[in-house]
Amino acid sequence: MKCFPVALGLLLCGLLLSCTTPPPPAAGPLILVSLDGFRWDYLQKYDAPALKALAAAGVHARRMTPSFPSKTFPNHYTLVTGLRPEHHGVVSNYFYDPVLQASFNKNLPGDNADARWWSQGEPIWITAEKQGVRSAAYMWPGCEAEIHGARPSLHQSYDGRANAAKRVDALLAWLDLPADQRPRFAALYIDVVDVVGHKAGPDAPETAAAVKEADAAIARLLAGLTARGLRDQVNLVVVSDHGMSEQSADRFAFLEDMLDISQVEVESTGPNGGVRPKPGTITPAALAARMRAKAPPQVQVYAREEVPARYHYSANPRIPAVVFIADDHWNVESRAILKRFTGNLERGNHGWDPATPNMGALFIAQGPAFRHGHEFADVENIHLYNFLCATLGLKPAPNDGDNRLAREALAR
Ligand code: AMP
Ligand code: ZN
Ligand code: ZN
Repeated sequence: MKCFPVALGLLLCGLLLSCTTPPPPAAGPLILVSLDGFRWDYLQKYDAPALKALAAAGVHARRMTPSFPSKTFPNHYTLVTGLRPEHHGVVSNYFYDPVLQASFNKNLPGDNADARWWSQGEPIWITAEKQGVRSAAYMWPGCEAEIHGARPSLHQSYDGRANAAKRVDALLAWLDLPADQRPRFAALYIDVVDVVGHKAGPDAPETAAAVKEADAAIARLLAGLTARGLRDQVNLVVVSDHGMSEQSADRFAFLEDMLDISQVEVESTGPNGGVRPKPGTITPAALAARMRAKAPPQVQVYAREEVPARYHYSANPRIPAVVFIADDHWNVESRAILKRFTGNLERGNHGWDPATPNMGALFIAQGPAFRHGHEFADVENIHLYNFLCATLGLKPAPNDGDNRLAREALAR
């Protein structure tokens, strides 16, 4: 009888612990695949049997909302850091840093490998390595840089010539490594749907074929996991960074009609972008006011500090001093640049307001750690990082997300 209070205490303690400690880390590897530019509704619109089956068996968000700007580099870094672009610092595919007095260009291998651009955020492969979980990243934006003195154990730099099947095979080869070298977290980047979606537009048969190719890559990955006896152990998460929308030459607004082009540096153009006044010319506030007075109704212009709060796009000096955002389908461009594209303007684009239905992205998760046959509404992509950390049993770095995706998607 004497030990009863102790036993009761232990029982209560155990109950409390089971309520407060995170679930034990999943046994099998966690694989995160990004299908760049895979719009949320391509799943129904096009033939994607492998992805549809994954969504039906696992957990599926109707739509994942990207962060602003709905471009590739900002959103890939948000997906793996949980930080909005204004906080992780990769504020666009192209931007200028007034402190470094240097520009970032997503196409330059040197910028992809340069820690200065990436070190405002901590991607999950670094969180994992710091906590003893071997990680790997295949062509994922940011994976080429040493961040906070660390790198993923395995990484592959971007090579646009490697097709989706080749990338899947390379990831599977990492899973064939001896146990002490094998990653427990791996991220894979596949861009065929984005590349073709730009050229042909979201409604074209070429884009349907690209979706089929991406779907076949997922089927190839699943077959490879089955062949290795891993299919039932792996937790697989398939996401995209943004959607895709049509654009056309008759829906362009021109910078030259809104400002004196000799007074500014143009940082980026398109569905959104920005300019900064050259020193000694005009203040950002005056430039924004002048542009606003002359812009067509499809274009909104803001000084950085005036960008509406819902875009979360003010708190970083890398954001252009003057930001413009066009309505869906519309672009802001300089006449000089557009001239170069005459005759071969791409049919599709993205970068518009993340709330625009066409900008919606994909989220599917399937595996033993996740709920089965569960679909839920929209979720912002800032919550993915915490969900991935919870799946791996990692303590996340501070970020802009919360645990709502983990609550929705993890098995109870
Ligand atoms: P965007 O569609 O303008 O946001 O840019 C995304 C495109 O950039 C993708 O479709 C890829 O083909 C390409 N891309 C992705 N990573 C890299 C990289 N590291 N270097 C050059 N191009 C890349
Ligand atoms: Zn993209
Ligand atoms: Zn794109």
